[in-house]
Amino acid sequence: MLTNNLQVVQDKIRMALQKRKNKKITGSDVTLVAVTKNHPPEVIEAALALGIKDIGENRVQEAKHKKEVLPTGGCWHLIGHLQSNKVRHAVGMFDIIESVDSLHLLAEIDKEAGRIGKVQEILLQLNIADEKQKFGFSKNEYLKALTKLDDYRYLRIRGIMVIAHQCDDIEETRPVFASGYRIYCDLKAARQEIDILSMGMSGDYTVAVEEGANTVRVGTALFGQRDYNLKF
Ligand SMILES: *Cc1c(COP(=O)(O)O)cnc(C)c1O
Repeated sequence: MLTNNLQVVQDKIRMALQKRKNKKITGSDVTLVAVTKNHPPEVIEAALALGIKDIGENRVQEAKHKKEVLPTGGCWHLIGHLQSNKVRHAVGMFDIIESVDSLHLLAEIDKEAGRIGKVQEILLQLNIADEKQKFGFSKNEYLKALTKLDDYRYLRIRGIMVIAHQCDDIEETRPVFASGYRIYCDLKAARQEIDILSMGMSGDYTVAVEEGANTVRVGTALFGQRDYNLKF
């Protein structure tokens, strides 16, 4: 099933790239982050065996458990909200933290990375539609965060992460992704080293790629429904 699903997702990404209206500065290589949250560790092994390199998990504790039972390998992305008291574990474990969503967290991650002698790669998560119940920087907070970045020696910002709201019609997500792309372009103009625009999940990754995403985070379309009874 996974082999087949992977083929389908990769084909749809290719088609979305062909449908892109204009050339995008994000390039035409799309990194597929396989989101394995609420699936057992074997699922990660199977994904790695098929050549998937990027693994997305949303909970520190769950990822820790999986990393303990799996052989090393893969590039691990934290995609869920990070609580301050989990920063220590997260910095030790994740290659990239996509879900940095507050000034406080920037400072905490920098401190911990410095302590263990690591440069932590991060994305800033944006709350573009400014939805109250969602994590992510508002536009103003984001601009403020950018002015602080150079104070942190142990952080390396690689770009931004955007989550669209759930909607019945995926076309409704297009303006959100288009605005994510514009913000990315501005950021890239200021900092050339920026190279990741992470947008799109199972329900909307095709639209995200059309609008310029070069990283998508896909779970259900690869692995089927999650099992929320699994305990880690
Ligand atoms: C769970 C999750 C995904 C994957 O969701 P699917 O709909 O299963 O593809 C992507 N991004 C984030 C931030 C998530 O929490």
